[in-house]
Amino acid sequence: MSDELSVDQLVGKASDALIPLEHAVVHKDIIDDWQALCRLASAEGFDLAIASGYRSFDRQLVIWNEKVTGVRPLLGARGETLDIKLMQDKERVFSILRWSAIPGGSRHHWGTDLDIYDRAAVSSDYVVQLIADEVKEEAVFGPLHSWLDSRIEAGAACGFYRPYTGLSGVAEEKWHLSHKATSQCYSRQLSERVLYEFLAAEPGLLLREAVLENFAEIFLNYVCCYEQ
Ligand SMILES: [Zn+2]
Repeated sequence: MSDELSVDQLVGKASDALIPLEHAVVHKDIIDDWQALCRLASAEGFDLAIASGYRSFDRQLVIWNEKVTGVRPLLGARGETLDIKLMQDKERVFSILRWSAIPGGSRHHWGTDLDIYDRAAVSSDYVVQLIADEVKEEAVFGPLHSWLDSRIEAGAACGFYRPYTGLSGVAEEKWHLSHKATSQCYSRQLSERVLYEFLAAEPGLLLREAVLENFAEIFLNYVCCYEQ
């Protein structure tokens, strides 16, 4: 895929490249590799499943705005609850960004990125949380991630990799996998200027002024913060 993508495709407002898969929606170009990875996992006793695939701009906007208004809990680095009402606007913005992407700047807007878990490791009524405590070595999804670590390290994970290294503002998120060849088309075209101009014209974004005032830092550390 080398085509030029539209702004709508880059920010999660287009659905033309997407198809439903399991309980999620994903980019059509990742299906074959995902199913190949599932087969490899299955041979090792894992049942790879998608907790979250494509997420629209509108959905991310709801999540963002509910964190701003306090409807959704705001968590700190160690998972502790923070009180957003006690903060200045800039601190509010960066506290939300630790665990939630800026609307328009999430890799989940592309359908190329998945949050995954091992369905074989839990009962059918288990609620997947996507937290660090689930993916530690001795935790419920630890064996899956150790296996994935070795596949990714060997360049043998069917084109998938982990874009977040934990070195910048975003948490490491071991459960987050990306299809490299497909996501790179998006990441290379989503420039700081494109996203800034899009958000500047988005009246529904709460804390928009503080976001735009700090945009260079946000883009560097929370949008363009992954390994290409
Ligand atoms: Zn994710």
